[in-house]
Amino acid sequence: MSIDLEIAQAASLKRITEIADAMGVRADDLIPYGWTKAKVPLPVLEQAEQERTPGRLVLVTAMSPTPAGEGKTTTSIGLADGLNERNRRRVAAGEPPTGQAVLALREPSLGPVFGMKGGAAGGGYAQVVPMEDINLHFTGDFNAIALANNLAATMLDNHMHHGNPLDIDPRRVHINRVMDLNDRALRNTTIGLGGVNGGVPREDHFDIVVASEVMAVFCLATSLADLRHRLSRIVVAHTRDRIPVTVEDIGAAGAMTALLRDALSPNLVQTLEHSPAFIHGGPFANIAHGCNSALATRAAMALGDWAITEAGFGADLGAEKFLDIKCRVAGIWPDVVCVVGTVRALKYHGGVDKTDLEMENVDAMLDGMVNLEHHLTVLQDVYGLTPVVSLNRFPSDTDAEIEAAIAHLAELGVRAESAEHWAKGGEGCLDLADAVIAAAAENEERGGGNPRHAYDLASSSVEKIEQIATRIYRASSVEVPPAVQKKLDRFVREGYGDLPVCIAKTQYSLSSDPSLRGAPEGHVLTVRDVRLSAGAGFIVVICGDIMTMPGLPKDPAAYRIDVAEDGTISGLF
Ligand code: ADP
Ligand code: MG
Repeated sequence: MSIDLEIAQAASLKRITEIADAMGVRADDLIPYGWTKAKVPLPVLEQAEQERTPGRLVLVTAMSPTPAGEGKTTTSIGLADGLNERNRRRVAAGEPPTGQAVLALREPSLGPVFGMKGGAAGGGYAQVVPMEDINLHFTGDFNAIALANNLAATMLDNHMHHGNPLDIDPRRVHINRVMDLNDRALRNTTIGLGGVNGGVPREDHFDIVVASEVMAVFCLATSLADLRHRLSRIVVAHTRDRIPVTVEDIGAAGAMTALLRDALSPNLVQTLEHSPAFIHGGPFANIAHGCNSALATRAAMALGDWAITEAGFGADLGAEKFLDIKCRVAGIWPDVVCVVGTVRALKYHGGVDKTDLEMENVDAMLDGMVNLEHHLTVLQDVYGLTPVVSLNRFPSDTDAEIEAAIAHLAELGVRAESAEHWAKGGEGCLDLADAVIAAAAENEERGGGNPRHAYDLASSSVEKIEQIATRIYRASSVEVPPAVQKKLDRFVREGYGDLPVCIAKTQYSLSSDPSLRGAPEGHVLTVRDVRLSAGAGFIVVICGDIMTMPGLPKDPAAYRIDVAEDGTISGLF
């Protein structure tokens, strides 16, 4: 059995009413899903937003990772537990409290749970629980999102079947059906077969739920009304005259919103150390913005003194989208950014072979600092933020490597701490918690907190891409093929010119070439395609291979998942 699941199953959970109570939310105000999960209704959150001072927001992001992942989720959990442990110790010693931390994280998708990557509820002693529930179905949000999406798809086909009054072109349908599994056989399908009663035959495609625009909409919605508004403007197809057809046009917005009404309230669970954690929504980090719902982040800010949240992939992608897309929509801005680095990723960017990352190599580690340093510079210079580096300590890291990394960053004037939450829980993150508290105080002193973005919404899409590419990816220029420019021109004509851009590229390099490590410079960013997400409110700019329906590997994790007679699940990791 995996260590993570063993630790999670050995945990003693508090009742969710107790966790809510510690944040000042009454049991009667919760919608409980058993004893350890609950939804916090939106009116309760709105009231807290009106009555309380919002907590400080900490964004957890990372340097460009290795394929194994550098630990943003575990660090977010560890930091929240560390802040709460620091607070408890202060209170116990009769010192002024530092305040309570609340997490906001993404819900895991079942695709990776049964595929290769496993669950996404943290690891070691930095986990959110009940781990099995969070990884399998949870409170049913993803099913509701899939159904809402598929309702729009079926209503579109039904419209074409019953005379097609809008004259929708069956070759120009943009909405795909979705489900939350890796199923390569459904990537390309033909539907509407079986004669006149089977509907209008056409080529169709399935995506995984987390790649759907409905998921992105769900995560950017700021209220039930805003959810309906965003759903209504999703462009599902074009007519034969090339006029966009929206969800509103096919009459699906109200029914989709009804399916999502309950799902939209953020889910509350706890960490192994009983820190409150909102786990809600989980869009892809490439063709979408890769963050938990705006409502969950705002819930954590409304109910906590510290709100800790994560953005997917490295800072060039996740933090950029968090800051340029999500913060704009949600009306929030981080007080501190915690950048996760690891000795192994530093060595990887210093040129060490993937197979040798566990061998001590201080020189290569220092060579790889160029990657981390560039991310830090961007966060400071482009966005005006105060970064803190969390060196997520792995068992193979040596003291010499960790000390050299911290000394190097200290020379640059950056707060850096070794974080040992994976092995020790919140206690292993006390230094990081202190660094975050100090950084927030410094940020406040210098009057930080004013949003600054990488680009203006009023500039053209190509200018927006250029700003990101040159300032954040270190590219020398952007190449936009004529066919792509034509599409961008059409988006402008259709009224979508002011939308932010959501760039999909590899997370393993600052460039769009995953093999370029360190801090490559002078490369050209080639835009392969663009897609409109009018409901979510961004233009997706595709600069790499984008897989919206993954397949299962030869040896899927599902082979090892089972249930004992007493209901205990095994094989999750
Ligand atoms: P991310 O959110 O950046 O993708 P996660 O926090 O989910 O990364 O961590 C990725 C994987 O690495 C998880 O399986 C996690 O348990 C493991 N992991 C994270 N930090 C450590 C560590 N310090 N030591 C060992 N394993 C770790
Ligand atoms: Mg993560």
